[in-house]
Amino acid sequence: MRRALLAILLLGLLLLTVQRARGAPAISRVPTYERLAALTFDDGPQNPYTSQILALLVHAHAQGTFFVLGDKVAKDPGALLAEARDGMEIALHGMTHLNLYRVGAAAMTSDAVRELVYLHTFVPKARIIAFRPPYGYQSPALKRSLFAAHLELVLWDVDTRDWTRPGVSSIVSTVERLTRPGSIILFHDGGGNRSQTVLALRDLLPWFHAHHYRLVTISALLRQLGR
Ligand SMILES: [Zn+2]
Repeated sequence: MRRALLAILLLGLLLLTVQRARGAPAISRVPTYERLAALTFDDGPQNPYTSQILALLVHAHAQGTFFVLGDKVAKDPGALLAEARDGMEIALHGMTHLNLYRVGAAAMTSDAVRELVYLHTFVPKARIIAFRPPYGYQSPALKRSLFAAHLELVLWDVDTRDWTRPGVSSIVSTVERLTRPGSIILFHDGGGNRSQTVLALRDLLPWFHAHHYRLVTISALLRQLGR
């Protein structure tokens, strides 16, 4: 019995060491049979779009996750407070929109940690655990350094390409076609005119409801993985 316990303990330690060396895997979808999906919004906050999106989500009793930029928050801290007040999850996208291949993993992670500290000056109670690297660029070194900083590397499996402004119906049909249980859906509330994103969301929220999807935060989705 004691030997079995010791073996389990040693195996756990070994797995932990391997994970520390490799970093945790990036998360682009959470395998689940439950009809859950996570709406995520990058590059904001940027009004009027952020507040329009918040109003739609609140009205639909839906939650979303906002991967905000520190320099955008500096221009409009009230929008960050509104996200937190409305029960949304706040997540990291960096102080500025850095490119991993230019700055490297260490600079990228320290920028994320700097943003985390900065955001906590406005929303000290927010549990901020997820980082999405700009452009979705990643590397083994980034996974290792984020793991060491206790941050989850979160990507997406449904790319609406809303930032290219492909038309409201294109954004809507992409989401309807590609969403599966556990999907992480990428939108943008900042970085340009996002009126198409807002209009698409207005059409999509009833679709999710009709298809029995519960729209949850990234943290809620990660709990399905036991994290
Ligand atoms: Zn971005």
